Amino acid sequence: MESKVLDSVAVNTIREQFPILNQEMNGKPMIFLDSAASSQKPVSVVNAISEYYDKYHSNVHRGVYKLSQVATDMFELARKKSKAFLNAASEKEIIFTRGATEAINLVAYSFGEKFIKEGDEILLSGMEHHSNIVPWQLLAERKGAQIKVIPVLEDGTLDLEQLDELLNPKVKIMALTHVSNTLGTVNPIKSIIQKAHKQGIPVLVDGAQAVPHRKVDVQDLDADFYVLSAHKMYGPTGMGLLYGKEKWLEEMPPYHGGGEMIERVTFEKTTFNELPFKFEAGTPNIAGAVGLTAAIDFIENLGWETIMKVEEELLSYGTERLSAIEGFTPYGIAPEKSGVISFNIGQPILMMWEPSWTSLV
Ligand code: PLP
Repeated sequence: MESKVLDSVAVNTIREQFPILNQEMNGKPMIFLDSAASSQKPVSVVNAISEYYDKYHSNVHRGVYKLSQVATDMFELARKKSKAFLNAASEKEIIFTRGATEAINLVAYSFGEKFIKEGDEILLSGMEHHSNIVPWQLLAERKGAQIKVIPVLEDGTLDLEQLDELLNPKVKIMALTHVSNTLGTVNPIKSIIQKAHKQGIPVLVDGAQAVPHRKVDVQDLDADFYVLSAHKMYGPTGMGLLYGKEKWLEEMPPYHGGGEMIERVTFEKTTFNELPFKFEAGTPNIAGAVGLTAAIDFIENLGWETIMKVEEELLSYGTERLSAIEGFTPYGIAPEKSGVISFNIGQPILMMWEPSWTSLV
């Protein structure tokens, strides 16, 4: 492959940072194409986690001895880094979770408890991952609310005309992916949020597939909630976060009970810790947070310009080469697209929106 961009960023020096790629698969150097499901880990992330367990492990926020204070500082450094990474206004707005799925469940449960009632509508889109469907269905069943779905057009973009009709005063929250995990579509999330806010509707953005690929600024987007998963951005599994505007998080009731989230417990009454700890029950994933810090460092050291240029080049190269195969049909040809190629070879599958469908994925 002739490539100025790939040569200029010395692709092999990046590859070498991923020890898992240094092996053969079916007699050939291993190439990994399933990063949207879970990315591989650079040596800096693996070493940071290993060093944490070798030298610093202890519980956080509760020990008055040196080791616990160091572990607490390492854990809280991940919050500082995450705040800066997303440009949140405050560290109180960064809640650590097990991943994007848990972060969405947290909002669906806690926001839902407080703000959703019978007859309300919850607006999703037809390109959501099931992690951004099922928690809302559970909420809708619990409260007698209704799920409404923004259709997807044939090129893999959202039907924005339909969106205008679906946004109405009955909608109490909209939950939408920033980048589709199957079609690669990058949704015009900022303008969609503006439209929703004009009607007073808060928006949760599923950023699991966006944050490894583009700079996200939650204040610029004006997202009310934004979720991500560390393992899709070179970090460890079992780690993710919820960004939430402080005004919402303050009003929302706790999700899980026990551990970090308590202030004072008696059998008669428990008072809850302040943000962000109110939503972080139990001993947190300390090593996961250390890994997340290292993953953010890895991304920032590579730089967004390089990441985006290489991705764009690989996407157009891959699409061009695949298109040369007879019977190749791509799914998801949005003008703004991330590095995912969904396709079929052989009989094309008809992709049309049916109002009865809840999801394409
Ligand atoms: N949202 C999107 C768009 C995803 O692609 C995924 C995982 O594939 C998730 C949410 C769920 O992420 P996790 O399983 O890490 O919680």
